[in-house]
Amino acid sequence: YKIKHIEEGLTQIEFPEFDKISSDAPVFYNPHMEMNRDLSILAIQVFQKQEDREINICDLFGGSGIRGVRYKNEIDGVGEVSINDISETANQFERHNIELNNLDDVEVYQHDASMFLRMKRGEFDVIDIDPFGTPSPFMDSAGYGARRNSLLCVTATDTSALCGTYQEPCIRKYNSKPYKSEYCHETGIRILAGFVALTLSKYAKYIEVKMSHSTEHYMRLYLEIKKGSKRTDESLKNIGYISHCKNCLHRQVSNGLASPIEEICPVCGEKLVHAGPLWIGAIQDADFIEKMIDETNHKKINTEKDALKLMNACLLEAGAPATFYDVHTVCKSLKISAPKLDLIFDEIKNQGFIAIKTHFNPLGIKTDATIKDIEKILISL
Ligand code: SAM
Repeated sequence: YKIKHIEEGLTQIEFPEFDKISSDAPVFYNPHMEMNRDLSILAIQVFQKQEDREINICDLFGGSGIRGVRYKNEIDGVGEVSINDISETANQFERHNIELNNLDDVEVYQHDASMFLRMKRGEFDVIDIDPFGTPSPFMDSAGYGARRNSLLCVTATDTSALCGTYQEPCIRKYNSKPYKSEYCHETGIRILAGFVALTLSKYAKYIEVKMSHSTEHYMRLYLEIKKGSKRTDESLKNIGYISHCKNCLHRQVSNGLASPIEEICPVCGEKLVHAGPLWIGAIQDADFIEKMIDETNHKKINTEKDALKLMNACLLEAGAPATFYDVHTVCKSLKISAPKLDLIFDEIKNQGFIAIKTHFNPLGIKTDATIKDIEKILISL
């Protein structure tokens, strides 16, 4: 192979050079995921400090080994790191990259991901699931294998399924009905989180979402895993539906596993469409994200500018209502041109409502105002 050498954070990585980013590359490396890896380092470090003990990490889909190697090299308080990949060539480069960075206590394994989690049940404080496409086939084993008070990091790159470009792939992979709307990236994250929560509930485990984001072609969740049947039952109250009116853009959230029977939009009387089951609970934890932001002072993060922008946006979203209104979509339905964004935010707040920006969409407004309130405001400006 012709070898490519790259640097992320404090870490050197080498892998066989390839022409285009694809799962056909001999060893997978995606430069567009650097911020994802940087954020993971911040999140795992915050978790380690919070637990105040040595943590063992599992990089379940190692590829070049970049995650496992960076985690050992750049996070304090890490004990053993296990890097797993089903590919022998990936394993060779994982070993090479461990040596290149002079690391001890990093082991390489060649197993199917699900088998590995089951063999190593309860051994990891952090499990990072970063597969090609959907994490769905591995979630049951993650539910079985995850220990109490651990951190589960999950990437999904099948965003078109989660966003509902077509319904079938989402129903098939996540047992949830998506709905393609202007806020479908948020619905997608909630479908993913809901699927993890429901899968883990079989093992009397439940999730607390510490941070989540949808960026470019992927979604990422940072989840704390807790255990206990009573609390799991309680936590499943966070499963529900988002119902949407295509006619007037009204939306409403309901809880419960059964799809809502109330089919009629209370604003305009048209039929509502329902997305779910999905996670209607919190998808950002302000305290955790503040600590991640603070942690950037102690780390070398090449994507710092973008990472901070994203974390600050997620921080603001903590506590905001579910879904958001897209200014252009509402203005289009009113057949008016869009007023300046700042003016809209000011006026919504003037009238006593919440108005919060969202990382999901630069033109999105998270608010407790109704669609009718928003329309009045837009027309008045
Ligand atoms: N985490 C890596 C990074 O940040 O660069 C990228 C991992 S890549 C998206 C997915 C990897 O999973 C590939 O290296 C592939 O060989 C491996 N893989 C695919 N199916 C697997 C399975 N069933 N069990 C374990 N590894 C698998």
